[in-house]
Amino acid sequence: MAKTVDEIGQLREFLRRHPRLVVLTGAGISAASGIPTYRDDSGTWRYRTPIQHQDFLRDKATRQRYWARSMAGWPTLRDALPNAAHHAIARLESRGNIETVITQNVDRLHQRAGSRRVIDLHGRVDRVRCMHCGALSEREALQSWLEQHNSLDIAGTRARPDGDSDIAATDLAQFVVPDCDHCGGDLTPDVVFYGGNVPRARVDSCRLAIERADALLVVGSSLQVYSGYRFCRLAATAGKPLAIINTGVTRADQQATLRLFEPAASLLHGALV
Ligand code: NAD
Repeated sequence: MAKTVDEIGQLREFLRRHPRLVVLTGAGISAASGIPTYRDDSGTWRYRTPIQHQDFLRDKATRQRYWARSMAGWPTLRDALPNAAHHAIARLESRGNIETVITQNVDRLHQRAGSRRVIDLHGRVDRVRCMHCGALSEREALQSWLEQHNSLDIAGTRARPDGDSDIAATDLAQFVVPDCDHCGGDLTPDVVFYGGNVPRARVDSCRLAIERADALLVVGSSLQVYSGYRFCRLAATAGKPLAIINTGVTRADQQATLRLFEPAASLLHGALV
């Protein structure tokens, strides 16, 4: 307890000294909302290999498998609510202390907590995009279609933070997925898969935000994926302080000016009351 009080004080001091922040978040911030992380505190990956961008593009069976697992995983993300950490960050924004929130999460919980200056670095899982014509549609509408046309037993499956799930890969050859209503093309979630590229303009917006900010605050990310880690390197190169709130080890621990190992929700909430 005494340690937490001390850490709340350190975080308050960091927020006071650096009134304009970029906040970079990862799966750990949504853990208290019931969405599991990819890695545990020691940095060990918890699941099978995630779907790879190239496999999804070229292989119909991979797409079938993805949508079957997503049909089981989506309700957890759809029904999750923002927790005290998301709300604290939204409150910081309303006080004028947030330059930009860069999130690696696709769950949209920052926006649901009221944050407006958010960059969804890896996209958003509540939207579906046609790989051919680019038409966007609601993920929930697709869910209804999938549930009507497939009889897959999804009871007891565990969701992953990207809306994927641990459903067994058996009998998925019969799984049916609709084509795009507009052009008949194949559908993809509006996310950046592993092996895919974050659009250049999106990365540039993140870089600009870091240039304008006083400091970078990382919340709930192992920073193992370069896509997020690069912003810590950028901040370090620009001489901007870096604070990390993460219960486990991160790739940028050596670069951090302030390193806090407490759960994000209690710490951020405590620092803002
Ligand atoms: P991660 O699981 O690697 O790290 C989460 C971290 O949160 C862990 O280090 C853990 O110790 C910490 N943590 C757990 N509970 C916490 C709490 N209550 N408070 C504070 N910290 C807590 O997740 P990540 O860093 O977001 O990295 C995963 C990356 O992989 C992301 O960039 C993600 O977008 C990407 N990814 C993308 C896809 C895709 O298909 N789009 C799939 C898989 C992964």
